[in-house]
Amino acid sequence: MDHSVEQILNKPVFEREDLIVLLNADKKERELIFRKAAEVKKEFVGNKVYFRGLVELSNICSKNCYYCGIRSGNKVVDRYFVSDDEVLEAARYAMDNGYGSMVIQSGERTDKVFVKKVTNMLEKIKALSDGKLGITLSMGEQTEETYRQWYASGAHRYLLRIESSNPDLYYKIHPNDARHSFDYRLNALRLLRKVGYNVGTGVMIGLPFQTIDDLAGDLLFFRDMDIDMAGMGPYIEHKDTPLYQYRNILMPKADRFYLSLKMVAILRIMMKDINIAATTAMQTLDKQGREKALKVGANIIMPNLTPVKYREGYLLYEDKPCINEEASECKNCLEARIHIAGDEIGYGEWGDSKHFAARKQSNN
Ligand code: SAM
Ligand code: SF4
Repeated sequence: MDHSVEQILNKPVFEREDLIVLLNADKKERELIFRKAAEVKKEFVGNKVYFRGLVELSNICSKNCYYCGIRSGNKVVDRYFVSDDEVLEAARYAMDNGYGSMVIQSGERTDKVFVKKVTNMLEKIKALSDGKLGITLSMGEQTEETYRQWYASGAHRYLLRIESSNPDLYYKIHPNDARHSFDYRLNALRLLRKVGYNVGTGVMIGLPFQTIDDLAGDLLFFRDMDIDMAGMGPYIEHKDTPLYQYRNILMPKADRFYLSLKMVAILRIMMKDINIAATTAMQTLDKQGREKALKVGANIIMPNLTPVKYREGYLLYEDKPCINEEASECKNCLEARIHIAGDEIGYGEWGDSKHFAARKQSNN
């Protein structure tokens, strides 16, 4: 069996034990992983970074995930819903500035009023942009019918993080009840694929009780699920959540950041043609977190277009960056960051996952 990071990086397929060695790589060895991931990115997805203008549509949520600042049990949050006009303004901004796509994210609701509201909003964005703006949704677990309705109304990508692929850990970070079922979440990912979406998932890194073996399992899960996109980032504590009581057993923030970076880099090496996001949570733990993620394999960035007045309401975790920045400031700062990372921006393009295109072609 191969043991050194260098030897493992030359293997065509990583086994669980290999992933554990890579995830445990020290400061010097991790540079080998990062270098290899940068090469793979350049060869398979190129150096273009795609913008997805992010709208955090609503912080009203029917769930109670133990890590999340906008969980329904947190009574100190003022709840909001961005109006259709404001969403359309963000869509117009995205188009005028050459963003090929939007991501619309929200607390989870499955009631008819919500489903209909999202459907109408999607239709309006599509009409406004003449079908040109690509739309990613991230609205949690829904029925197949809802996923179909939103797909028919213009959404074509969907992000639903599994959060942890180990059911035991999953139930340590969620209530163990029908509303937070691991199996239901897994099935939702399968439904999304069946309906025809580009499917994205991901996990939080550095959760209390999480082990390196869990993270190796997460990487194998992504490969087994044959995902098209990934969004991963460090877990960051929030004082009004149940998991806050475990803050003293968390690994230091710098370690959490580098472990997250290793997850991005290893996934790029394993799944060469998928889209991987440089997430905001990466930037929360390291001022240059997103550029660093781009350098080691990420190729998607999500500038925040949520109207500033709502941003305080969408604090999933502490020290979330850019909560006072207008979209234009955000854009300028991101453009500079991307150039620092040595990448260029794919203006006006959807930038869909190459993996999705390849799997569609092989199915036909
Ligand atoms: N409600 C939808 C869902 O849960 O899929 C979409 C919105 S939810 C706020 C988006 C993501 O935020 C979750 O998948 C979770 O991974 C992340 N998140 C929530 N709380 C977090 C925390 N404390 N630290 C890092 N990420 C967090
Ligand atoms: Fe709601 Fe998503 Fe937060 Fe869970 S992670 S409480 S579903 S917004």
